[in-house]
Amino acid sequence: MHRIITVAFLLCTGIALSASAADQDQTKVVKINDSIYMVPTTGNVYMVTTPAGNVIIDTAMSDFAAEAKKLLAAENREPVKYIILTHGHADHIGGIPLWKEPGIEIIAQRNYVEFVNYVTRLEGFFAPRNAAAFNRPAKEVGPWAGNYGANIEPTILFDQEYKFMLGGVEFQLFSTPGETPDHLTLWIPAYKAAFIGDNYAGIGIPEPMSFPNIYAIRGTKPRWALDWINSIDKVLALKPEVVLNGHGDPIFGNQEVTRRLTRYRDAIQYVHDAVVKGMNSGKDVFTLMQEIRLPPSFNLSESFGKVSWSVRGIYDGYAGWFDMNPSTMYEVPPSSVYPDLVRAAGGPDPLVRLALEKLEAGRPVEALHLTDVVLAYDQKNSAALGARLKALDYLRERCENYVEAGWLEYGITKTKEKLASQ
Ligand SMILES: [Zn+2]
Repeated sequence: MHRIITVAFLLCTGIALSASAADQDQTKVVKINDSIYMVPTTGNVYMVTTPAGNVIIDTAMSDFAAEAKKLLAAENREPVKYIILTHGHADHIGGIPLWKEPGIEIIAQRNYVEFVNYVTRLEGFFAPRNAAAFNRPAKEVGPWAGNYGANIEPTILFDQEYKFMLGGVEFQLFSTPGETPDHLTLWIPAYKAAFIGDNYAGIGIPEPMSFPNIYAIRGTKPRWALDWINSIDKVLALKPEVVLNGHGDPIFGNQEVTRRLTRYRDAIQYVHDAVVKGMNSGKDVFTLMQEIRLPPSFNLSESFGKVSWSVRGIYDGYAGWFDMNPSTMYEVPPSSVYPDLVRAAGGPDPLVRLALEKLEAGRPVEALHLTDVVLAYDQKNSAALGARLKALDYLRERCENYVEAGWLEYGITKTKEKLASQ
């Protein structure tokens, strides 16, 4: 029997949230069948062997790539002929330089080019956000590489479909945009195996499975829900007997594949359609973030993707930033009058008291907003920093979402630093 890995880590983000779970399992190769091998690491790496050479699917983050390569080479030393990139996130393409050799074809969907250019174009913007979200040192960012400055490694790019034969095995590739616009699915008919990258986060095996991140708050372009739904349908139509994910465990058996992917697809559809209906009825984004909940029958957690963030991602993805309020049309933000509010209140103390009362009443986000007001007036106000820390701790203790937890911990660290520097 296949060894079922219980590692349930992350993350479809381009950056690993935590490698600790991965570390435990990286020393093992999982044999999916006689020809497919998997290294469960930060971005799973797969090898498909054929009598004419091997195919690698994804290359892991650069930090983990060498170990993955060593492990796979120990299983089979025949030459690699193709590298297939399910998408352009760093946890899937970071190992390319290690694998790349003259004569190896590297295949990606055509949107890969713009996707990695976009990531490179905004490297200076993303670096501190990724560092904060994943609690890691900020990446050194060099001079701006320009709008089209990314290193484009693929040698074969395709639009909708691409097929090739190797050693009598047919490899079929399909464009399946979802978590990123360049996502592809590799289908090997002979093994009824579909490699779908991060379009299904293989976390949550066993249950509960998590809702996806239709918007990643570290900063992403809109992830188009309807594309994602169509891509899952494309995978389901293949009737796979095994689905190999970019993270976490494979899904075995067509019945289980169908059950999981259908539920995932239907959940995305439910949230998308609820947002669209709400928008058409004139509801604002915050109302919809509060109102839209997945019915319990979906039995999905929000440990990875949060429904409310996805609601806002879909809303803003369709409509952009303007909310019909003339006061938000201008370059003067609400925070410009925060110091005036503090003065009008007679100083920080009444507002800090109010923040603590809000917290006491179980309204920690309102407490945070009030500390924002006071800290705009006096960024070193220790009472406001103390109230802020309490509100952040309150939220962290109750938080069940990995990504949210990361940002709360970032806020807690920053607040503690400010308090310590008093
Ligand atoms: Zn990933």
